Amino acid sequence: MSATNHSDAIVIGAGHNGLTTAAYLAKAGLDVQVFEAYESIGGMLTANAIFPEAPGHVFSEGGIQASLFRATTIERDLDLQRYGLKQLIADPFHVHLEPEGPSLAFWKDPVKTAEEIRYFSPKDADAYLRFARMLDAGVSLALPYLTDHPLRPRPRTVLGMIPKAVRHRKEIQPLIRFFTGGHTDLIVEWFEHPLVRAALASMPPFCWMRYDGTGWALIYLGICHRTNSARFQGGSGSLPRALAACLEAHGGRIRTSARVEELLVRDGTVTGVRLEGGEEFTSTIVVGACSPTVTLNQLLPEGVLPDQMERRASMIPSQNTGAGNLKIDIALKGRITPTRHNAWRKDGLDLRDPIISWHTYDEHIDAWDDAVGGRWPERIPFISIVPTSIDPTQAPDGQDTLWLWSGIIPSRPQEPWEDVRDEIGRKVLADLGSVYDGIEDLVINQRTYAAPDLEERFFVPGGNVYHVDPFALRFGPFRPAPGFSSYDTQVPGLFLTGAGTHPTGGIAGIPGQLAAQRILKLAGKGDTLTARALRRTGREKVKLG
Ligand SMILES: Cc1cc2nc3c(=O)[nH]c(=O)nc-3n(C[C@H](O)[C@H](O)[C@H](O)COP(=O)(O)OP(=O)(O)OC[C@H]3O[C@@H](n4cnc5c(N)ncnc54)[C@H](O)[C@@H]3O)c2cc1C
Repeated sequence: MSATNHSDAIVIGAGHNGLTTAAYLAKAGLDVQVFEAYESIGGMLTANAIFPEAPGHVFSEGGIQASLFRATTIERDLDLQRYGLKQLIADPFHVHLEPEGPSLAFWKDPVKTAEEIRYFSPKDADAYLRFARMLDAGVSLALPYLTDHPLRPRPRTVLGMIPKAVRHRKEIQPLIRFFTGGHTDLIVEWFEHPLVRAALASMPPFCWMRYDGTGWALIYLGICHRTNSARFQGGSGSLPRALAACLEAHGGRIRTSARVEELLVRDGTVTGVRLEGGEEFTSTIVVGACSPTVTLNQLLPEGVLPDQMERRASMIPSQNTGAGNLKIDIALKGRITPTRHNAWRKDGLDLRDPIISWHTYDEHIDAWDDAVGGRWPERIPFISIVPTSIDPTQAPDGQDTLWLWSGIIPSRPQEPWEDVRDEIGRKVLADLGSVYDGIEDLVINQRTYAAPDLEERFFVPGGNVYHVDPFALRFGPFRPAPGFSSYDTQVPGLFLTGAGTHPTGGIAGIPGQLAAQRILKLAGKGDTLTARALRRTGREKVKLG
């Protein structure tokens, strides 16, 4: 084996979390090798030309709008602006439309948002101000924990909660209801106008809305009110590109089209990886930055985990919400505008810029009921973005791209996806035509993806964009499963990160940052790696480099 086949750390997967871990480790002086199964880096954050007949149209194939990432120190710590990252603020971060023309914008400033709501319902406007205050208290209390280790938060995180809890004591009771209530319950309890209800149903739909413990999804509003929301200039691939540049500047290496097939294990310790094709690479530690289901159930050989833990890992849910994801990318040979809705607004806001949605509250509920019942909804609620509006560099002059996502289609459909793909593509396009005049005549090409395509494209079971189902009880110490939430695992040498670990999926980078912190903490000071995992095997101090 050549010297270059050994490194301090191997990271499996060049999604933004894996690259974040890799960049922090490389910056700390470790020799890091990243293996990525796909032909390019970024995982669910990419920006690629996907249609041969539209080579100048670049698509963010996965995530696009970042909020939680803005609450982190990652951009500053890794000097990502120096490596080309530029955030484009999206304010308002979401606008919901009524068919005839009215719209309701959600701005960073909750007061400005409430003023928009006042036009439709003064009562809901006042309720929104109270709601936003409660959310802000929730964000104040939760954010320090979300950016800390789930099992061993720093004393300042824990102690810092006490004065905050005292300051926000009036919000504690409503917050308990907020975090335990259903998405529909909260909407109905707080608001009465159909447009407000519809807007909140569209934001962001994670789990069957009627179920208790699903209303927490609306914390998204509190985060956007706190941090604002942004996209990345050049498309979502700019974030992983900047992370990769940082990693490489610190000596790290990335190899694409390099799918890890199995973890190498000696005497119960993970010692490296074998790639598809048989090449082997050894390392002191291996970080699984792909779905934990892949790392624990597919890459780790059977019998390495204790029996009960192995069975627990096999039950990590990725399709149990009943709902999956639909992603549609459309290349257009001209510009699209929601003309009727732009004309209604008198404040100059161009609705080409923000995320927009327009399905009713009842349509959201019906779609959820259908999805969890395995039926394709008659009308699929989605959110739509024209990325080229705030960043025209993503298509040739005068032309647009359209990014569309829904989280409300069945994860286990009775009628197979291949049988309905074209019909759904057509229906969604017709629905888009009700808002964007003339879109149907401008289409160069359209790609309609659901779970089977997402699974294949992103190497993730169930095409799950959060890697692990976002149930309320799959967060903190329970993400991805009890006993696996600490980033280090029961298997010496093996670490986990990525969307399936604390705090959550989405564009955040926090799992990657926290995993790196955990590894470096275990590595101890200086250039010796004293990982607990290694101590267990008697390899007390492993010299790095
Ligand atoms: C259509 C869509 C829309 C979304 N919209 C948003 C949004 O607007 N805002 C938001 O916050 N979030 C959004 N998300 C979610 C967000 O993009 C993801 O949760 C996040 O990017 C996951 O990042 P990650 O680095 O943890 O994992 P991934 O990006 O999944 O990276 C994991 C990497 O591991 C690689 N890999 C897997 N198996 C192997 C193997 N055996 N060997 C080597 N490599 C392997 C994969 O190819 C992949 O590159 C969206 C996702 C999708 C798909």
